[in-house]
Amino acid sequence: MHDFQYREENLYCEDFSIEAIAKEVGTPFYLYSLNTLESHFQAFDSAFSKVNHLVCFSAKANSNIAILRVFVRRGGGVDVVSGGELFRAMKAGARPERIVYSGVGKRPEEIEYALEFPILMFCVESAQELLAIDGIAGRMGAKAPVALRVNPDVNPQTHPYITTGLKKNKFGINIRKSIDDYILASTLPNIKVIGVSCHIGSQLTDVGPFVEAVQRIKELALKLRAEGIHIQYIDLGGGLGITYHQEEPPHPREYAQSLLNELGEIECTLILEPGRVIVGNAGILVTKVLYAKEGGEKNFIIVDAAMNDLIRPSLYGSYQRIQPVQKKERPEIVADVVGPICESADFLAKDRKLPRMEAGELLAVMSAGAYGFSMSSNYNSRPRAAEVLVDKGRFYIIREREDYDDLIKGEFIPDILA
Ligand SMILES: *Cc1c(COP(=O)(O)O)cnc(C)c1O
Repeated sequence: MHDFQYREENLYCEDFSIEAIAKEVGTPFYLYSLNTLESHFQAFDSAFSKVNHLVCFSAKANSNIAILRVFVRRGGGVDVVSGGELFRAMKAGARPERIVYSGVGKRPEEIEYALEFPILMFCVESAQELLAIDGIAGRMGAKAPVALRVNPDVNPQTHPYITTGLKKNKFGINIRKSIDDYILASTLPNIKVIGVSCHIGSQLTDVGPFVEAVQRIKELALKLRAEGIHIQYIDLGGGLGITYHQEEPPHPREYAQSLLNELGEIECTLILEPGRVIVGNAGILVTKVLYAKEGGEKNFIIVDAAMNDLIRPSLYGSYQRIQPVQKKERPEIVADVVGPICESADFLAKDRKLPRMEAGELLAVMSAGAYGFSMSSNYNSRPRAAEVLVDKGRFYIIREREDYDDLIKGEFIPDILA
């Protein structure tokens, strides 16, 4: 469910006409519905209401500080994967004791930064990282709370670029070897072992792989307790999928019930790190048609948004639904929707059946709220798009469109070139 619906012929976000927003902010821009964001968070959070839990929104899915704020305000935590995301979480008003920090390559200064607050826990991805954190915590006179991120070796049946829980993936510590690392961790003077964590992949549309992962994580947690290592937190990561096209992912309620059934009466606080399922369908990318090129081998609709704005189709071959902002009677064509970037991989859709669009008309690229703006770049020296949040009949710019000066911020021509 989301709040992007037609009224008569015009696409609205909540109570605001998208065409009217485009007139004021220009194109392309990302548009988010506050109501959708809040109701998705609420639906996910309440699905776990029977147990002690903390929903840490995965900042990399959408890291705008206003978006993070929406969840923080509702009691959510944040899952960060870099010092920069931790900075954003703090700017959004997150409570450090609700922040978890994952990622295979945490740098020493990032570890130090996180220990200053301190955060709820580090999800540690290797024995060497454990030693690094221990050393830094020791120098700071701190004790670092950690979970080991284990790799349960389950196949999430998703795109190979977004599987993370297979033995061959770079993430986490092999679950069978993790006991040794846990024992090592428990001997380190500046480390406090408090949890087990995992994250098996993204855009999963079946509960099976999650259930399999939970079985293995639970088994590990019980083994660790038997070894005298007190596990207080079980972090099951994110990964629940959404409908982009025809996928039928489980509702968060169903997902939660499957996890909870499997966990049974294990005493601990459950941590979840959803990203896509909360924001994916709460945002769209609005773009303007520049030109239509028809009559050759293929038809092309050339728009003002490109792979630098939304890279998912180019990177993963992902399907994004595309629809006209103004629906009216017109003939259909089959076309590629492409951007202005000088790469053949610059497309938003291939061989898509669409109404014939004229220059100046608007298209809405649906389901763009997750891994949209947060993966955007300045490639081809394109200023990044604006981001807009709608609350009922009002809209707020939550990130200004970049200008040319932003493009060269921090660049210098040295004197030798004068
Ligand atoms: C990316 C990521 C998530 C969120 O994944 P979604 O598929 O967007 O829910 C959660 N945890 C970790 C560690 C991640 O890397």
